Amino acid sequence: MGLLSEGNPLSWEETKKLVDHVREHGINQFIHLYHRLKDRQGDILKWGDEVEYIIVKFDDEQKVARVSLKAKDLLAKLNEKELADPNGVKSLWRPEYGAYMIEGTPGKPFGGLMAHFNLVEANMRYRREEVTELLASDECVMSITNFPRLGAPNFTYPVHQPRPEDPISSARSLYFPDEAIFPGHPRFKTLTRNIRMRRGEKVSIKLKVFKDVNTKLPVEGAPPGEPDVVLLDAMGFGMGCCCLQLTFQACNITEARRLYDQLAPLCPIMLALTAASPVYRGYLTESDCRWNVISSSVDCRTEEERGLVPLNENKFRIAKSRYDSIDSYLSPEGAKYNDVKLTYDEDVYKRLIEGGIDHLLAQHVAHLFIRDTVSLFSEKVHQNDEEDTDHFENIQSTNWQTMRFKPPPPNSSIGWRVEFRPCEAQISDFENAAIVCFVVLLTRVILSYQLNFLTPISKVDENMQTAQKRDACRKEKFWFRKSSKSTEQRAACVQINGTSTNTNGSSTATDPIPLFNGTGKLNGHGNGLNGNANNNNSSSNANGSHIHNGGTDSDQTDTDDEETELFQLLTINEIFNGKPGVFPGLVPLIRSYLQSMEVDTDTHCTIEQYLRFIQKRAAGDLITTATWIREQVLNHPDYKKDSVVSDRINYDLLKSIQRIQEGKHVEPALLGQGNHSKTKDFIPPALQKQLAKTGCCEDK
Ligand code: ADP
Ligand code: MG
Ligand code: MG
Ligand code: MG
Ligand code: MG
Repeated sequence: MGLLSEGNPLSWEETKKLVDHVREHGINQFIHLYHRLKDRQGDILKWGDEVEYIIVKFDDEQKVARVSLKAKDLLAKLNEKELADPNGVKSLWRPEYGAYMIEGTPGKPFGGLMAHFNLVEANMRYRREEVTELLASDECVMSITNFPRLGAPNFTYPVHQPRPEDPISSARSLYFPDEAIFPGHPRFKTLTRNIRMRRGEKVSIKLKVFKDVNTKLPVEGAPPGEPDVVLLDAMGFGMGCCCLQLTFQACNITEARRLYDQLAPLCPIMLALTAASPVYRGYLTESDCRWNVISSSVDCRTEEERGLVPLNENKFRIAKSRYDSIDSYLSPEGAKYNDVKLTYDEDVYKRLIEGGIDHLLAQHVAHLFIRDTVSLFSEKVHQNDEEDTDHFENIQSTNWQTMRFKPPPPNSSIGWRVEFRPCEAQISDFENAAIVCFVVLLTRVILSYQLNFLTPISKVDENMQTAQKRDACRKEKFWFRKSSKSTEQRAACVQINGTSTNTNGSSTATDPIPLFNGTGKLNGHGNGLNGNANNNNSSSNANGSHIHNGGTDSDQTDTDDEETELFQLLTINEIFNGKPGVFPGLVPLIRSYLQSMEVDTDTHCTIEQYLRFIQKRAAGDLITTATWIREQVLNHPDYKKDSVVSDRINYDLLKSIQRIQEGKHVEPALLGQGNHSKTKDFIPPALQKQLAKTGCCEDK
């Protein structure tokens, strides 16, 4: 939460001796925090985004763009205001993995009013301006997912050479010098070293090159026998990418578990919609997204754990990296879709059960705790398990999954939260704000209509891979849950608005249960609108008797015919805009919901702009950032049809991006005819008065 505290990292040898210590105390800490906080009720909706940025330095004479390794100095300046007035700042700045990266969030979470949707983009703009003021005229802060020539020769400013043979190097990379790792906190280099040491070799990230007519094979650095592979060999290639995340607070733990589950199947869908990273180490690849790259970039599993050699020193084969899509649902309704065998230590699971944790949560936590700590500070080794949570957080925060279930921090007014983590960073504040507001609105619709998106975990995993394929947004199909009769009824008032792609849902019937009441207040929770309290359509097979306990053999969840038919392959267009008789569409559902809300005109206008943008991108009328970047490369006069994104192409591409983010150029393929959101950086006094009268938004 706060600024990262300094500390003394232990060596890998020392850390290794303490992995069971961290596990044991982490589990104890979770049990204590659970009992302290499980009955916490009545937290209101709060939410906030995180945007990561790359600092780029342009050499306008040589026509070269590089990442600028100045995040540490920049952060020192950006944090001055916060240090002087922690509660009064409009933005908060944190370090990220790259020495060229920073992460910005709003100064305070957004919350109780519909009008808050109108603040997001202005706040993002403020952040960008705040950084820009501190940069030189040849530098630029960019919310791009990946720097296209990251790891290509001389990609940093100042230039540093990698030292793969240097025993002191953390990464030992052929391409990514240690100087490109954030130097201001030991966490990042420690993680880099320990992940490599635990794995027993450097990480290995393989991407298929996009084969053009003149593509030279083997690609430089390709592994033996895999000539068409772009090989990346360092944590920085993944953790050095930027993303867009959002966190929201639930009214209680039950609602948090439910939202965690309902949003999990939407992760691959949102990944496909936000795809923004087709170029790695200066090569066009077959992938549009960062996800598998980051996943492999922190894959600390040994050969035994990866199943390459028989188990000997390690306990388990482990199916995925510690950075990947979630492996199990947490709510009773989700239990029957946990169809992938969960790996965990039976003893850890038993301790959790004996500690009073229910099966679904116990297996979730036990599964997180199959990972060893890969970053431990000497100051943190000995803790009071009844109060501290550092050991729990140590493992929790290095399980980087599509969703994160966040317990309240100790001694704070913060409640149970859920973090949505799949989205790629978009070029403009408009796009990033649109995505954030869309997802937050979706959570309201899920709770209000009691929507059910639950899809077997195995199918969500499949969707994750599909989402990353070239142009998946327009070309691929995704497993998606067909609406049940009851959902159709609840959402029967879906009105069709404009775009040709929409379903014509029947009009009439049940009004949605308003979560935003007439005052325009995001009528969070704690007032009987808790989705679970009145959720009578969920199949409550919560005992989980038919799902796996760790270590035992697989016994697949039985899915009868009706269940099988429930899941259909839909395009992104159909998922967002609707398919008659199958699914009303995410955007029409949101529109229907909004009709029951009283929304001020400006906010309404802004939300409309966002929804229209999302509909058009889903329909393929607008292209994803990834597709746009590909087109920029393929159409560049310097492009030799050899898959190579040269310094010059990279420079011109980033210059175009700069013009777009500054609003100097409206790129029709990305943004249509331009967007005119009425975003503001304050809530109009009239709405504030209402807020004061109703007394909402006050912390309980
Ligand atoms: P992390 O890096 O651990 O995911 P950050 O602190 O960087 O978390 O960002 C968390 C986000 O959650 C920020 O956008 C912040 O505004 C928001 N946030 C802060 N407090 C709350 C809260 N009580 N409920 C929901 N969101 C919150
Ligand atoms: Mg953060
Ligand atoms: Mg973080
Ligand atoms: Mg971050
Ligand atoms: Mg985060």
